Amino acid sequence: MVKVGVIICDRNRTCTGYKCFKAIANREGMFSSYPKSEDILLVGWVACGGCPGERLEFAAADMKKIGADVIHLASCYLAGYPACPYIGDHKDYIENVVGLPVVIGTHPMPQNYIDTHNAIGDWKRDQVEKFVKPLASDPLASRKYDSTRPNYLKEESSKKMVD
Ligand code: SF4
Repeated sequence: MVKVGVIICDRNRTCTGYKCFKAIANREGMFSSYPKSEDILLVGWVACGGCPGERLEFAAADMKKIGADVIHLASCYLAGYPACPYIGDHKDYIENVVGLPVVIGTHPMPQNYIDTHNAIGDWKRDQVEKFVKPLASDPLASRKYDSTRPNYLKEESSKKMVD
C-alpha cells in the first residue's frame, strides 16, 4: 500500500476533488505509475493556503506524521492561470526539508486547459512545460478529463467511478 497526500492550489479550495479521486481509482495521470494491485490510501487532502503557500510547511509535515509516503501537488497547480509560480519552491521544500518525495500532478491535464495555455503561451514563458508534459501526454485521457465537453456530465453520470 502506498500512502498519498495531495496538496491543491488554494485557488481551487472549493474543489470537490472529483478528478483527482477518479484518477486515483482508475490509476490515470500521475497515479498510473502505481500498479492496480497496490492500494492507494489518501492520507491527506488540503489546499496550500494561498500564495506563496501558507499551509505548505504544516500540511506536508502533518501528512508525513500520519504516514504519507509521497506528496502529490495536484494538477490544478498547473491548470490555473497562470500556473503556480511557486511550484518549484513547494517541491524543493517538501523534498529537502520535510523529507518526502514529491510528484507534480494528479489527474491528466484536461484538454480545455491545454488549449487555453497553448493559446496564451504561459506554460512555455514560465518554464513549466517539463511539469505539464507527463500530464498531457495522452490525448484521450486529456479529452476524458475535459469537463467543458457538452456530454461530460451525461457521460460521467452514466458510469461508475472505475470504468
Ligand atoms: S498559485 Fe501556488 S502558491 Fe498560489 S494558491 Fe495556487 S498553489 Fe498556492
